Amino acid sequence: MSTNEYSALVARHRNYFRTGATRGVEWRKSQLTALRAMMTERAEDFYASLWTDLRRGRVEADFVDVKYLVGEAEHALAHVGQWMEPMRVSSLRMLVPSHTRVRFDPLGVGLIIGTWNYPLMLTLSPLIGAICGGNVAVIKPSEVAAATANVMARLVPEYLDRSGFSVVLGAAPETTALLEQQWDHIFFTGGTTVGRIVMTAAAKNLTPVVLELGGKNPTIVHSSADLHVAARRIAHGRWANTGQTCTAPDYVLVFKDVAGQFLEILKQTALQFYGEDPRKSPDYGRVVNAHHFERLTRLLGSGTIYHGGQCDAAERYIAPTILVNVPPGSPAMQEEIFGPILPVLEIGNVQEVIDFVNARPSPLGLYIFASDHNVTEQILDSTTSGDAPGWGNITGSGDSARTRMRAAFSITAPFSISTCATHRMRDTRHCGKWRTACWPEHRSA
Ligand code: NAD
Repeated sequence: MSTNEYSALVARHRNYFRTGATRGVEWRKSQLTALRAMMTERAEDFYASLWTDLRRGRVEADFVDVKYLVGEAEHALAHVGQWMEPMRVSSLRMLVPSHTRVRFDPLGVGLIIGTWNYPLMLTLSPLIGAICGGNVAVIKPSEVAAATANVMARLVPEYLDRSGFSVVLGAAPETTALLEQQWDHIFFTGGTTVGRIVMTAAAKNLTPVVLELGGKNPTIVHSSADLHVAARRIAHGRWANTGQTCTAPDYVLVFKDVAGQFLEILKQTALQFYGEDPRKSPDYGRVVNAHHFERLTRLLGSGTIYHGGQCDAAERYIAPTILVNVPPGSPAMQEEIFGPILPVLEIGNVQEVIDFVNARPSPLGLYIFASDHNVTEQILDSTTSGDAPGWGNITGSGDSARTRMRAAFSITAPFSISTCATHRMRDTRHCGKWRTACWPEHRSA
């Protein structure tokens, strides 16, 4: 597409948005119903494309993509009317006598840029948020999961309102051209490098942005942890989708006194999950492309292979792998692994954990396995992260702006709605009448 064609596409959607057709609950519900129909009636198309792109089996495809989206559409259908209702909040004392309401208004035309590891969830889940908010949107799926992107490009216009939604296929040049357009909101999922490009482009027009980025997620196994529970959960988190998950445990910091025992249990868990030859397991996927395969095989040299390590370039297969003796300065500890390799580092005490985590960028997720409540609290109190589930006898939790934004965008307050505080003040000069002052109070960015 030429620059003019991109401009025309955005203008077409903006004109439609301005007709007000997307504001009513009926339109929103009709689009959610259509999306749900697409995911159920054409599930076979999606299963096939996910297998082609990621060798993703049906159970996992349903869990994270196909039925996941059906469930999210149903949840949205059940609640969208309620989400649209203005919210009464207390007024500032200086505005008394007044009533204050937060109105949830749509932003307009959104751009959703997706990535490949959960190619449906990461594009259509933000779309559900956009629909709930009464917005229109252009979707740019990742070119790396090409088969799934093609299915979306074919089916979205077939099921959803064409005046409101389009799918644009392409890679960096096409995304660059899209970013040159004027958007009312941009929702980006991907790496930090492109995240910076997106934010720079958005800044030119002061467009609000949600960035769903990646990072290295530390996973702490304390001496007080139930090691079997820890091993099972870490194995699932690291090796589901061949480790290509933004929130996967990226590396383990295990306390020295339980390190040997934990490693053995983790290895046995990998064997239990995927068998002696994970290549034959229907539950074990493949690395998405040759570029990532080569990047990951280089990371295998960062330590000693404790378990796994087998590779096959023809199939882009890397076995579930545990690395030990990994120096903190090695390549595997510098970049997000985003694959089936798990470094396990030994650590002496809680303060060392805190210093290790704080010496690195704030992670997307931080996982603590400990039955000792004090240990979990001490780590949570001294570190920051997007999420921080704790396992053991307690559960700690934290929210980063990024995580909250995601919830705000795609689940509860759709499409990062611009809210508008409407202060209704009794105008004493016009007794019995109301004067309305309305101004934009908050824009999620
Ligand atoms: P990426 O940043 O390379 O690509 C994402 C999107 O940006 C794609 O649609 C791509 O076409 C586009 N793009 C690529 N290069 C571009 C450029 N130069 N200019 C403009 N657009 C460009 O991301 P990736 O490597 O495909 O995805 C992996 C990353 O995504 C990991 O870091 C992972 O942790 C992260 N991720 C985060 C979440 C989350 O919810 N936080 C979810 C999944 C993945």
